[in-house]
Parts: sequence; C-alpha cells; structure tokens
Amino acid sequence: MNITLYPEKCIACGLCQTMSDVFDYDDDGIVLFADDHQASTMTLSDRTDALLAAKSCPTKAISVD
Ligand code: SF4
Repeated sequence: MNITLYPEKCIACGLCQTMSDVFDYDDDGIVLFADDHQASTMTLSDRTDALLAAKSCPTKAISVD
C-alpha cells in the first residue's frame, strides 16, 4: 500500500496518530510519518491500522492506494 500525506489539509486534530503508529506530528501538530519526518509518501505492506486512520481523517489529508 502507498500512503501519501497532504499536510496542507491537516487540521492537527490528532486522530490518525491515536489509530496508527505509522503517523506522528510536527511541533504544530501537523501529520508526518513516524519513521521519516521528511517523506510525503511511503510504501508499506498492508496495515489495517494505517488504512483505518486514513479513512478516518476528517480532511482527507492521508490517502492510501
Ligand atoms: S486525522 Fe487528518 S487532520 Fe487529523 S491529524 Fe491526522 S492527518 Fe491531520
């Protein structure tokens, strides 16, 4: 699965990190990948937690394909 972050859409609600440790935040609460703070895309083997977090994001700041 490929995950793409759109930090410009993130409203720093904190939900995704509570659902999956794939995600983390910068000092302003904006979403990052926990394992690579500079990356905007990441390829992972299937992770249900990350998929659910993406689907739960209220602003669609995380996409999965
Ligand atoms: S759930 Fe969406 S809006 Fe909320 S912190 Fe995560 S990426 Fe940002």
